[in-house]
Amino acid sequence: MTDNVQTTGKQMGLCLCPVCKKTNPEDAQTCSRCGAHNQARDYSSVQKSWALLITAAILLIPANVYPITTLVNQGKVTHDTIFSGIKHLVHSDMLPIAIIVFTASILVPWLKIIGLAIYLSAISFSLPVSKRRLMAGFHIIEWIGRWSMLDLFVISLTVALVNMGQLLDAKPAPAATAFALVILLTQLAAKVLDTRLLWDRLDLEDDKY
Ligand SMILES: [Zn+2]
Repeated sequence: MTDNVQTTGKQMGLCLCPVCKKTNPEDAQTCSRCGAHNQARDYSSVQKSWALLITAAILLIPANVYPITTLVNQGKVTHDTIFSGIKHLVHSDMLPIAIIVFTASILVPWLKIIGLAIYLSAISFSLPVSKRRLMAGFHIIEWIGRWSMLDLFVISLTVALVNMGQLLDAKPAPAATAFALVILLTQLAAKVLDTRLLWDRLDLEDDKY
């Protein structure tokens, strides 16, 4: 039962319709059900994923340099970047919240960008990394990614709580937009990638790693 030799659809001359997921013969130009253009593998997905990932990495700079929240306290305006915000939380004895913000706004986006870069490099430059490990890494990347929205949730919650007082006024600042885009773009970079490209590449090398 535990036969390690697997036959892929591609080897059987079949391919999946990218739109309606119907299996079609590989040589068919269009899908017999929905008429979409047939394609066994989406080779351009690596490029799309790289483009989204690089844009996300660039946007990390404004997300960290510009203030993410603006606080107006009795006419005095203070701006907080992600990093100074965490520092304030630590100094205000709010360590658990500081840890959540640090994990969601610094650790997760960086790990995700580095992880995806390794994954895409493995496909683009045929790095000698085991496919089992890469696939496990990819699932982790997809799973942790959704938790980085937690940071924007913490910001909106803080803003809502602070605004209840009459003298304080808090608003999300420019970096909040950049940060939301970083999360969105990394999520899309993982989504658009055709993971079968990795299986193909390693199958060719007889799965020796
Ligand atoms: Zn179809």
